[in-house]
Parts: sequence; structure tokens; C-alpha cells
Amino acid sequence: MSSLNKSLRNIYIHIPFCIKKCLYCDFPIHALGTSSSLEHRQSLTDRYLTYLFKEITLEMTKYEHRLDKPLKSLYVGGGTPSLLHPKQLESLIRHVEKYVPIDDNTEVSLELDPGTFDK
Ligand code: SF4
Repeated sequence: MSSLNKSLRNIYIHIPFCIKKCLYCDFPIHALGTSSSLEHRQSLTDRYLTYLFKEITLEMTKYEHRLDKPLKSLYVGGGTPSLLHPKQLESLIRHVEKYVPIDDNTEVSLELDPGTFDK
């Protein structure tokens, strides 16, 4: 059986926002700036998520025959995904879950940067 027929088990999602761009960083990043308001950040990240959700939907339709088993891992990296509001993160995970099962054994990871998250 070719690997193209195997179940989709691992997903990486890139969140390309950081407070500032580090000099040594080669990732595609949009720097939000230290002085940007919460509303400004939320509106930019909401716009990004709108297109990301559309892309996830398109990708998942390509892999329709491979979405039968729960994911082994869902990794949300960046960038600084911890800049997203918890409700945005929840809606991202729920959107993925519409297409592929996430269960208690799925490892869900999120990159965090100091100063961008709390309890
Ligand atoms: S992804 Fe990491 S290294 Fe790159 S700009 Fe953001 S915080 Fe800096």
C-alpha cells in the first residue's frame, strides 16, 4: 500500500505572527509590533484564520480517503501561536476536528513564547 493511501496521522499548522521579527529568524513571520492593540492583533489574526480554515478545508478534501483514524499529533507552531486568543485556538482545533478525529490519545502541542500567555 502506498503511503498516499495511509491514514493522515500528523498535522502541522503554521501561525505566522510574532511580536517582533528576531534577527536570526528565517521563518515567514508577520511582526505585530509591541504597541499594537489587542483589537488590531485580533482583527489581523482573525483574517488569517479565515483563510487558514478555507485552506484546511481544501486540503482535507484532497485527503478524504485518509481521514478514518484519529490523529496521532496536531502541532500548532510558528511564529508565536500563543498570540492567538484561546477562543481562536479552540475554533482552529474544532475546525480540524470537523474532518479528522482528535481523541484522548492525540498529542496536541502549541508553541508558546514568554509573555504571550497566562493561565
Ligand atoms: S518565530 Fe521565533 S525566532 Fe522567529 S521571529 Fe518569531 S519568536 Fe523570533
